[in-house]
Amino acid sequence: MSEALLRVENLVKRFDVKGGLLRRTVAQVHAVSGVSFAMQPGETLGLVGESGCGKSTTGRLILRLIEPTSGQVWFEGKDVTALNHDQMTALRRDMQIIFQDPYASLNPRMTVGQIIGEALVIHGLLKTAREREDRVVDLLETVGLNADQMRRFPHEFSGGQRQRIGIARALAVSPKLVICDEPVSALDVSIQAQVVNLLEDLQEKFGLTFLFIAHDLSVVEHISDRVAVMYLGRIVEIAASRDLYTTPLHPYTEALLSAVPIPDPTIKRNRIRLQGDVPSPLNPPSGCHFHTRCPIANAGICRTETPELRETRPGHWVACHLRG
Ligand code: SF4
Repeated sequence: MSEALLRVENLVKRFDVKGGLLRRTVAQVHAVSGVSFAMQPGETLGLVGESGCGKSTTGRLILRLIEPTSGQVWFEGKDVTALNHDQMTALRRDMQIIFQDPYASLNPRMTVGQIIGEALVIHGLLKTAREREDRVVDLLETVGLNADQMRRFPHEFSGGQRQRIGIARALAVSPKLVICDEPVSALDVSIQAQVVNLLEDLQEKFGLTFLFIAHDLSVVEHISDRVAVMYLGRIVEIAASRDLYTTPLHPYTEALLSAVPIPDPTIKRNRIRLQGDVPSPLNPPSGCHFHTRCPIANAGICRTETPELRETRPGHWVACHLRG
């Protein structure tokens, strides 16, 4: 196997909650609690979990849009967490992000041409305005838009078109890794497949590596080579896509999968309805974070000991005391 493009080691993020007159730290949100994984060049890793499980925070930590509390991120052998501001700015050319809300992430006062060309200016690529304009036209056409749309503003576009603009902006600097942070969640179902197909085509054309974040296993099924499932700040299962979808091991993955619609109406799948809400990351449950909702939890080890992520079959890792 070739050397990993990205390696995340024991990444932790806690956010302080301030309170009282003196704005002292009164609690901490345990957003990400020891996340580790590696990605090979050209791979797509789906990162899936319910809202608030820490998946988007993980994406932002990798790019250092927020600083980790502890842990390391290695990109092409470089420790990203140790880079200074200038080194980090230079590295961002290789690591881009596509945001969930294409409207909120596009500056409404800039034209599409300016939005897409901005990163070319920041990174000092293509010195002349003419060269930059040619590149913007090229990018617009690559994502299925027209050259004559470059002088328009974001509000003149539909949600799907705006996400295409966000994709063109991310591609402008020819990145190696793109963090796709729920890129289709805000779009109509009919548009979602078009954007996912576009991302797949672009990956093939440019040899991109994708960390594809989603709250729903059905979205990542076709695009991902491997899938990691997160629950309350921890990865609970990670495996090759096919393996995870056909033989899930973690009870939480089973519950998520049971909610994925099957196109063939003759196949029945028993829906597993988890009891209760996701516990607060301010005060996550002891032991296995999932024990308060797990249908097979026992009163002993599940409540007291954190299950480690273990490789139970080649490439299939699960964090459960009773499975694998
Ligand atoms: Fe359920 Fe226990 Fe496994 Fe956690 S460790 S998923 S509570 S069986």
